[in-house]
Amino acid sequence: MKILAIGAHLDDIEIACGGTLAKAVENGHNVKVLIMSKSGYTNKDGAMQRSDEVAVLEGTKALQTLGIQDIEILDFPTKDIPWTSEAVTAIDICISDYNPDIIFTHHPFDTHQAHAGVSNSTISAARRKNTIFFYEPISPSGRSYVAFKPQLYVDISTTIEKKVASLREHKSEYNKFGGENWVQGVHARCGFRGYEIGTQYAEAFEVLRIEASFSKVFNL
Ligand SMILES: [Zn+2]
Repeated sequence: MKILAIGAHLDDIEIACGGTLAKAVENGHNVKVLIMSKSGYTNKDGAMQRSDEVAVLEGTKALQTLGIQDIEILDFPTKDIPWTSEAVTAIDICISDYNPDIIFTHHPFDTHQAHAGVSNSTISAARRKNTIFFYEPISPSGRSYVAFKPQLYVDISTTIEKKVASLREHKSEYNKFGGENWVQGVHARCGFRGYEIGTQYAEAFEVLRIEASFSKVFNL
């Protein structure tokens, strides 16, 4: 199978569905990641918090920790990835070229404007695709007034350590997000989702739509 994960920033994929993608790679599936921005940013005073170069370097290493080699990084503004024809077309080109069986993207009610922009642009671009999942907003993704409804669970007990290791590759983000407290928070969410389905660790997804025949081959 060909799996495409689309994220606004370098780190979003690792936090939300890193365990699932690592497992897919281990199971012999093809995994491609499309990141919409080089992910550098400044604070409110204009001071550099993370350069594009550092974000791309750390993010690439983090994704490689998950076993992912096929990484495409676009150049939309980190904080302003829009739901416009420009973003939709960029995603559309990637989908047409790669022709994925499964698409993962942000939850449309994530409070980060760039995350919501990517989600909605993906929904528009993937209009001819039959199997699309939203990954769970996990801090530092914004909390939303619209609840995330877990509908698809993937047991990631065998890849939780790879996921955690990929988070630690984001060295320039690590301290800002709270260091090991952040890593433990993400780890705990996976433990909670695992507990809900009777495994050690899991990641949860909302289903936008899924092709019925597809569930037979979905051996994640
Ligand atoms: Zn993000």
